[in-house]
Amino acid sequence: MTANSQNQAENLVGRGSRDGATLFRQWFQGLSEVAEKGDGAAYVFVMGSLNEILKTFDFPVVFPEINSLQTAVRRVASEYLNEAEDYGYSPDICGYVKADVAVQLKGGAHPMGRIPKPSLAVLTNACNTYIKWAEIWERMYEMPTFVMDIPGTRADGAQTWSGNQDFENDRRYVVEQIKELISLCERVSGKRFDIDKFRDVLSHANAMSRAWHRLLELNCKQPAVFNALTDGTIYLGVANGMRGTAEGTAFFKDLVEEMEYKSTNNIGTLTEETFRLFFVGVPCYPIFRRFNEFFTEWGGVFVHSTYLWFASGGTNLGFEYDLENPIDSLAEGVLVSVRDAMDSMFHQQRAILSLADPFHVDGVVYHPIKSCRTVSTGLADGRRYVMANRDVPTLFIESDLMDKRVVSEAQMKNRIDAFFEGMISRRQSSQAT
Ligand code: SF4
Repeated sequence: MTANSQNQAENLVGRGSRDGATLFRQWFQGLSEVAEKGDGAAYVFVMGSLNEILKTFDFPVVFPEINSLQTAVRRVASEYLNEAEDYGYSPDICGYVKADVAVQLKGGAHPMGRIPKPSLAVLTNACNTYIKWAEIWERMYEMPTFVMDIPGTRADGAQTWSGNQDFENDRRYVVEQIKELISLCERVSGKRFDIDKFRDVLSHANAMSRAWHRLLELNCKQPAVFNALTDGTIYLGVANGMRGTAEGTAFFKDLVEEMEYKSTNNIGTLTEETFRLFFVGVPCYPIFRRFNEFFTEWGGVFVHSTYLWFASGGTNLGFEYDLENPIDSLAEGVLVSVRDAMDSMFHQQRAILSLADPFHVDGVVYHPIKSCRTVSTGLADGRRYVMANRDVPTLFIESDLMDKRVVSEAQMKNRIDAFFEGMISRRQSSQAT
């Protein structure tokens, strides 16, 4: 390697993770400043954030799911969960909700700063918890909440597309709701809706979708250029928080450049990639790094996940808005992406079977969690279906995304070690025949 190319590699490789972390800190810093001034924000969720509308009105946007997971990654979640449970919330319900309740009880204070109070909340029916969660803010702050009702697919594999009569009926239903949301935003912000600014926001969202789609394509190749579980979670944070912004677009443009470089030069995320894995569910945030190491120590890399799919707000599809027809096109994008997110949770077997070949998957890791019935229900049945239809090793480990009390590291490690030992002996036997 020449000195020049070494310099290029040093500048490029790892840039996405560094820049993503910086953007995140700036984002939280910005929210802290809004909170200090006593201004409000729009509260939204990752599945159907409608960020495109909210950014058009310049609302600071808060993703309570992301704030909550920060408490787990920074290993202070138990303090927040205990506070919410002492306040009366059951240990059984989603840990994200309880961490957020504690954040609200602490006046918005969380490990990355302070979040503003909500001026409004926007949510979809992608998760039933969203609806009950927003009711908590309604009771606390008496602010408006807007529930966007997205008609789901009628059955596994029954997604319809633009031009189909059912789809067009559903699109009209969503268009009317988007118009109602715009009126609400006008009332809350005191600003008129600016269609040209809206087009700008959509155009940034389009650039992000193209980039996200390309990133996923690059990870099909061996070696994988990023780890879907660790790096992917950083990218998801930016994809959600900065959707429709110039900063988000610039980040993803740079990220594609980095990953193209790694792909061309065969630089994998692991020095030695031995097993390519597909992850199903939500990460184990209380031991986020360690959980990943249980796999990387055996040369296992997560090349894709259902998380990169349902938590990406639809960017995984590479869907692009038609700027000539922005409201209709947003309705189409919301319909397609939220349905796709729901399907990737409820019919995850379809995702696994369709992606196993292009991503050269050697094994599938299922991680059902106590907190999230939405994602975890049916995983055992989905796994049985995958095993009946494809000869691929699978691992089923249960823990939680927030609650360390139900994360048993030693037990988990034993199961993961046994999984890899099984894959190694399977590989040896197939090489011997
Ligand atoms: S139940 Fe699951 S999908 Fe719903 S808010 Fe909690 S973690 Fe998210």
